[in-house]
Amino acid sequence: MARRDRSLMSAVHANLSGRGSAPTRSGPVFASLRGGVASVVEALAARQEDLRTGTRAHSLERGPRGWSVRLDGAGGERVDCDAVLLACPAAEAARLLADTEPEAARDLRRIEYASMALVTFALPASAFPRPLTGTGFLVPAGEGLTIKAATFSSNKWPWLAQELGRVNPGRTCWSCAAPSAGSGTAARSTAPTRNWPRPPWPTSPA
Ligand SMILES: Cc1cc2nc3c(=O)[nH]c(=O)nc-3n(C[C@H](O)[C@H](O)[C@H](O)COP(=O)(O)OP(=O)(O)OC[C@H]3O[C@@H](n4cnc5c(N)ncnc54)[C@H](O)[C@@H]3O)c2cc1C
Repeated sequence: MARRDRSLMSAVHANLSGRGSAPTRSGPVFASLRGGVASVVEALAARQEDLRTGTRAHSLERGPRGWSVRLDGAGGERVDCDAVLLACPAAEAARLLADTEPEAARDLRRIEYASMALVTFALPASAFPRPLTGTGFLVPAGEGLTIKAATFSSNKWPWLAQELGRVNPGRTCWSCAAPSAGSGTAARSTAPTRNWPRPPWPTSPA
């Protein structure tokens, strides 16, 4: 697909809009739940499933049923379970597994993360010379810019555009990502911190 089209994304888009062999579908290629994936946790918590939100796993050890998780908090409550699934960042998983699975912990420690700052704007749609198309843009590292990516959130998530239109009509939502201060990436960057990219639409002279 990438050979036939200008990029993999445009090939996916062409397929989804019916030019290729994939099923026809219009709109952004992204999909999520209305309200974002956090709404799954909220729905489960509302159904009073056995779910502890806002509780940190303090430590993990072998227990009578297989595993034993000690939770943060005054009593240091223990939860015995048959299996554990770690869905936390790699460095935290490495800390939890350091005693019981040192080899896995060593591999997890090798996984690097970039620390990002995310800035969200709700801009007047009239500030743009024409409506934004697409779902955003990525900035290649070689460009030497601080910003790494921008998402046209209103285009990417139609439910968000509807919510924003309800509380603040005429605005469009943008999110920009940049390495956060103190992250290794920011420290290596030589770009000035207010060096924003040219917008991907024609601009009129000031
Ligand atoms: C700027 C930006 C834009 C993105 N845009 C998109 C997008 O448009 N679409 C997309 O699909 N993805 C996007 N992503 C990627 C997406 O956000 C991540 O892939 C996703 O959030 C990873 O989910 P996760 O559950 O694996 O980890 P996380 O969301 O990092 O969740 C880890 C959880 O573990 C918890 N935790 C940590 N330690 C412990 C502990 N000891 N005990 C208990 N809990 C603990 C944390 O509190 C956290 O809730 C984007 C990422 C960034 C940075």
